Amino acid sequence: MSEDSSGGRQRQLPVFHCPYCGDEELTPYEDDSTDGWRCGACLRAFSVRLLATGVQQG
Ligand SMILES: [Zn+2]
Repeated sequence: MSEDSSGGRQRQLPVFHCPYCGDEELTPYEDDSTDGWRCGACLRAFSVRLLATGVQQG
């Protein structure tokens, strides 16, 4: 039940809407080195990256 993977490794973020057409029919898309999503409506595949959080480091 625990889903402990290596710490610090980015995990796939949940996406609920296609950023291009807004459709909700998204399925996981996996390439050789990319985890992402494929939109069932416009057939675009994309990945989502977390660039920052609200935590300040300094
Ligand atoms: Zn789409």
